[in-house]
Parts: sequence; structure tokens; C-alpha cells
Amino acid sequence: MTEQHVIAIDLGGTKLAAGVVDREGTVLRRTEHPTETSSQDALLAQIDGAIEELMNGEVGALGIGIPSLIDQRAGQAGSSVNVPLTGVHLRDQLATRFGVPVALENDANAAALAEHRFGAGRGTAHMVLLTLGTGIGGGLILNGELYRGSLGTAGELGHITIDLNGSRCQGTCPGIGHLEALASGTAADRLAEDVARARPTSGLGRALAEGRDVDPRLTVELAKSGDPDAREVLDTIGYRLGVGIASYVNIFNPELVVVGGGFSRAGDLVLEPARKVVAERALPPARDAVRIELAVLGPEAGLIGAAVVGFEALDSVAV
Ligand SMILES: [Zn+2]
Repeated sequence: MTEQHVIAIDLGGTKLAAGVVDREGTVLRRTEHPTETSSQDALLAQIDGAIEELMNGEVGALGIGIPSLIDQRAGQAGSSVNVPLTGVHLRDQLATRFGVPVALENDANAAALAEHRFGAGRGTAHMVLLTLGTGIGGGLILNGELYRGSLGTAGELGHITIDLNGSRCQGTCPGIGHLEALASGTAADRLAEDVARARPTSGLGRALAEGRDVDPRLTVELAKSGDPDAREVLDTIGYRLGVGIASYVNIFNPELVVVGGGFSRAGDLVLEPARKVVAERALPPARDAVRIELAVLGPEAGLIGAAVVGFEALDSVAV
């Protein structure tokens, strides 16, 4: 086998990152562009362009991570909220165009693969990954492999019900009282605004009065400086997250739960209350053995994970 590199694409709602990646997960060349969301054709042309820019003779496959449910039967996005890709046979189209094997993967599944091979989950066989951002993404590593389910859509860990009488979930999800609606960065945003309005003299309240964005970034900043109301917001989010994680511990008995995504910058301010709930409510002995830790690869996890599936595609045709 002469091809030792793949081109990985990490397509997000706001940016498209692309890179040439080797088998050790090292990103050798990297480009980044604002995601072209004006139309499906424009986005497909942008993906083609990003690949052409990086293509060379040592590239043996493409790995594409997208923020969508993937239908692996057809090699297409089953549903996409932030990017116009629904209904495109992306895997086959790219394989035909570039003449190399192509793998498609959900972005959180890709992040789980990356953390498992090269990050916080190295050496584990059973790992659960959650990404906290606008929503809550999930990925499952079971017996050392990414668990995809029958169609490829498994691991949607943000979409479990933790409040029977809760509100409708975000985006196109028809669920009620899902973890995503209660413990994501968006949920933290809502909670912080509620606190700011209810307590105008609090740090969050004063920030709102000054016209500042009472977003998760500000809440984390205030909490880290000791602000009690901001800490209460993160404590509540961590508690809810822990309720979800306790269920994953009972179902999957993981060695490790990895928490990543933009909102994970809250760190132990969210993880500590989550660990406390898991220690109280999950079933022993699994609850006593599980570790709940932060992801280590940061925003590159999606790109590196896309490369991992690219190498899987390359190796599956080489056998
Ligand atoms: Zn949902």
C-alpha cells in the first residue's frame, strides 16, 4: 500500500475544515472556509474545491464528517439541520469524482473515534462520548469499535428523555424533554437569561442590563471568577447532564465518559455535579468504576475522526 494519507473534511454549520491526515492522526496540511450554506449545489462545489486543493498522489481515501444523521446504506445524510445536504448520495458522488474510497460519518461519531484512538479514550474498550454545543452529540465505542446501529444513526445520546413533561426538543427532533433541550449550551444560554432577568443585581443580571450577550461563554467566565449565580446555572446543567450519564452508565457500563464540544470549557464546574449524580443514582459497581473526563483533542477531534473513517474505507478495499 503506497497511500499513507487521507483527506478529511469536518463540515460544520459555520465552517468547513479540511486536512491531509496521516495514520497517526497528525494533520499535515489544513484549510478552513466559512461553510457555504446558500444552496446544496454551492456547498457540494465547496466540498469538491476543498478536496481538490489538498489532493495529491499519496491520498488514498476521503473521510467526511457531517453534522447529520447518516444513512450508511445509501451513503447519504438522512437528515441535516444546519447544512443543506439531505438526499444527496455524497459517498458515491465523491467516490466517482475522485476515484478513491469515501467514508461518511456523523460528526459526533467521528469525534468519538478520534478521542478513542488519539485522545482521552486511548486504551479503553468501552467509551461514551458527549459533545456539548448548540446541541448534544453522542458517540459510542463498544468493544473497541464505533457502534453505528443498523442504519448508521446510533449514538444520538442527546436525544434521551429525562423529563416526561418537558418541552419539545431542538431542531427537527420530535422528542419531548430530551437531554439536549435541558443540558446543551443552548439550554445553558436559556437558563442564564432566566437567572439574569429574575435577579437583576446578579452578575448575569448586570451583564444583561449592560446589553451584553448572556451566553454560555459569559456564564463560564463569571462562574470561574466565583460568581454564585453563574455557578448555580452550571451546577444545574451539570446535574441534568449527570442524570443522562447515569443512564448511559447503567446501559453500557463504560470505563470512561468523555465530554467535549465548545461548552465543555466549563470543565469541572459542569463535570463535578454530573459525577455526583452518577455516584448517587447509577447502579453499582458500574458507577464506582466509571470515569467522567474532558475531551483532549479540542476542535480538531472532528477532522481527525473523519480521517479515521477515511482510513477504515481505504483498508476495507485494500484487504
Ligand atoms: Zn431530541
